[in-house]
Amino acid sequence: MDILLKNIKIISEKPTLTNIAIEDQNITAIGPNVTIPSPEYTITGKRFYISPALMNAHTHLPMTLLRGYSDDLPLFPWLQKIWALERHFTKESCSIGAELAFLEMIKSGCGGFADFYFNEDSILPVAEKSGLRGVLGAGVIEGAFLEQGGEKSMLNEAKTIASKLENQSSLIKAAVAPHAPHTCSEETLQKCLDLADKYNIMIIIHASETREDVINMQKTSGYPPIEWLDKQLSFFTNRDVLAVHCVWIQQREIEILANHNAGVAYCAVSGQKLAYGGLAPVPEMISAGVTVCVGTDGTASNNTLDMVREMRSAINLISHNRWNPGLVTAPQILDMASRSFRKRFFKIPSLTEGAPADISIFDFNTPHTNPIHNSVSTLVYSANGSNTHSLIVNGKLLMLNGVVQTLNEERVIENAEIETQKIKDRAKKKSDIIQ
Ligand SMILES: [Zn+2]
Repeated sequence: MDILLKNIKIISEKPTLTNIAIEDQNITAIGPNVTIPSPEYTITGKRFYISPALMNAHTHLPMTLLRGYSDDLPLFPWLQKIWALERHFTKESCSIGAELAFLEMIKSGCGGFADFYFNEDSILPVAEKSGLRGVLGAGVIEGAFLEQGGEKSMLNEAKTIASKLENQSSLIKAAVAPHAPHTCSEETLQKCLDLADKYNIMIIIHASETREDVINMQKTSGYPPIEWLDKQLSFFTNRDVLAVHCVWIQQREIEILANHNAGVAYCAVSGQKLAYGGLAPVPEMISAGVTVCVGTDGTASNNTLDMVREMRSAINLISHNRWNPGLVTAPQILDMASRSFRKRFFKIPSLTEGAPADISIFDFNTPHTNPIHNSVSTLVYSANGSNTHSLIVNGKLLMLNGVVQTLNEERVIENAEIETQKIKDRAKKKSDIIQ
């Protein structure tokens, strides 16, 4: 698919009009006079701005079906209400919920994701159909979700998806995702590491999300979670680890993450919604050299996958909490929400000649994005996902002028509604609906 982006601006502080040539999967040239002999598509428009495609560093895709189901509740009652319904998810529910998530991401300019859930095997076909770049992290947890067969069957599921994607040229990568240090035994965590080493796949883990998690870990093991993982299991050594949240971590844990080149998914909105207090020490992690990426978390705790809106909350929360605007800047947040994840975990560059063409195209012809003094500020502070005009991933158009090319929008929304009702009916039969 040859695509020419004509007379557009690359989002930056002083952008100029330029052209971008995309041939097959890659960006082949960038410059004001660049052209392609007969492009299949030419995208052009006044006030059209582009950025590297946004990347959602942390989500639980099928939880779209729980969007708005449990709000205005403290963490524990919130979890109880969510889990009561979530245990009635089937493989089909996961696939249908994930498809809704892919549709939402494409429509809001997000070209990639790192998921963390069960039944990833049933999500894989829709992930590949969507055309997005992403990671399917097979969740492993003990003592909960026994309907999913316990940790043994979850580990098997992780193995299945890892072997299925081994040596494939798919845009989708497998990961193993132990839920958290306090919800997996040391033995299970070691099995996850062995699996990651065998298949050379990423590891995703929630860590230090709440103060309670950290206090409990400190009491039982003598160490906070990141330090314990490092000391007890050499968890981060020579591995591609994405640690999610890292809200209540100490300076020496930041150094552990930096020394081992770990990535962190910073999820501002879910932390605000569930009100467990604290703020991940993002400026300190950046200074130490940790790759910090932005994620939305699942839609039960967000309630959207709109990465443009997420950037705004992510930056404002830091400024507000630290009494210091500019501690993290708009260009930094944009990098954290786009190129950082691709660079660290897919090991590919963004928006340069020779790079795979993963590009979000925004139409700023809207009142809330004008005038445009600084297009980075416009995207981060004023725009929202609905400003997306088109989305290209790996050289393929996933959305053109607001029309999704890879998924049937109407059918996906309809299926999600029907499946949600089925889940609720199953839960009702078992008296699992919590008001
Ligand atoms: Zn999560």
